[in-house]
Amino acid sequence: MALLVQKFGGTSVGDVDRIRNVARRVAASRQRGDGVVVVVSAMAGETDRLLALGRSVTPQGDGREMDQLVATGEQVSVALVAMALHALGVPARSLLGLQVPVRTDGAFGRARITEVGTAQLRALLDEGIVPVVAGFQGVGPDGSVTTLGRGGSDTSAVALAAAMRADVCEIYTDVDGVYTADPAICSNARKIPRISYEEMLELASLGAKVLQTRSVELAMKYGVAVHVRSSFSDGEGTWVVGEESALESVVVAGVTADRNVAKLAVRAVPDRPGVCAALFEPLAAAGICVDMIIQNVSVDGTTDLTFTVPRADLLRARTIAERVVSEIGARAVHAEESVAKVSIVGLGMRSHAGVAARMFRLLAAEGINIEAISTSEIKVSCLVRDRYLELAVRALHDGFGLGRDAPETDAERA
Ligand code: ASP
Ligand code: MG
Repeated sequence: MALLVQKFGGTSVGDVDRIRNVARRVAASRQRGDGVVVVVSAMAGETDRLLALGRSVTPQGDGREMDQLVATGEQVSVALVAMALHALGVPARSLLGLQVPVRTDGAFGRARITEVGTAQLRALLDEGIVPVVAGFQGVGPDGSVTTLGRGGSDTSAVALAAAMRADVCEIYTDVDGVYTADPAICSNARKIPRISYEEMLELASLGAKVLQTRSVELAMKYGVAVHVRSSFSDGEGTWVVGEESALESVVVAGVTADRNVAKLAVRAVPDRPGVCAALFEPLAAAGICVDMIIQNVSVDGTTDLTFTVPRADLLRARTIAERVVSEIGARAVHAEESVAKVSIVGLGMRSHAGVAARMFRLLAAEGINIEAISTSEIKVSCLVRDRYLELAVRALHDGFGLGRDAPETDAERA
């Protein structure tokens, strides 16, 4: 008998029929003799609705009460799923985060899980009762309800799977797995059968929206096998697993793109120690995540500093940069919104030369200019005009032979 954590996302519990469908799937797993812990999200659109409702009363936000409010979305769905299980004759009990308990720190809206109590879950499973746990929420040090950030029920599910030492964490969603590129952009994109945590982590943080990034970090840390699959079919999805069992290490596993970036350039920065710190410290203090950073000393002894931030933070970042510019005696700040980041990801890059060069050539062949570049061991990202996003993704996807119709060559497999 295996122990499964089965997590169902918002669309999978989007209406009463779908909730019945979830119950049937859970019942079938139990019939096969497996133990199941269910984790659910709020019904599709509900978290957005609650957030908008809260903001309409308090536009500037109100951490604790906002969490109290948005956590109700998951309270509704756990109760409905438990009721649907009862209707099928399956013993089940819904649990809120604070009833499990899922303990977190006190950072409202982006809390981190510190501990998952397993005693009650074990006791329920021993009695043959299916625990149906509210995702996305926990309980903070002072007993307040906390939430884990958008998409956080993936992280709830992985944390539960780690704490319970489950055999698999199944993430049921409205797509049937992780693809080599967004199928809406590349019609020949392929489903990836197995992918390593490292690659999935890069893809998730680069804009592929199948799994919350934090959930992948947690799965990697605790070695939780994650199976991303469709709640509307029985087919195998994508397994996210350790590198050793990801089987083959492809040079490029996937191509991804992110529109949620903006570029800031600070011109003619005096070239002396401390200028970068003077700029990036206040950005960090404002909680702005800087992504790509490029600095280059020019012949006149000044440097240009270019960096990217999430689009929503552009105005704040610009205001801070303008203040720093006058403090350090730089020339000007240039802000640019119409950019996008396209990236290629693959473990095989570690041992293959020329992958970045090939990416640059493929973009050049389409006449796409590269405005900034960043790399890690297993990824190369290029900043381009956002109107070229789709073209760039298609050129890279086809150019690296990732499409369904592409012949697989030895050069593409490490
Ligand atoms: N309901 C939450 C959200 O919409 C959590 C989740 O769906 O994972 O972000
Ligand atoms: Mg989700």
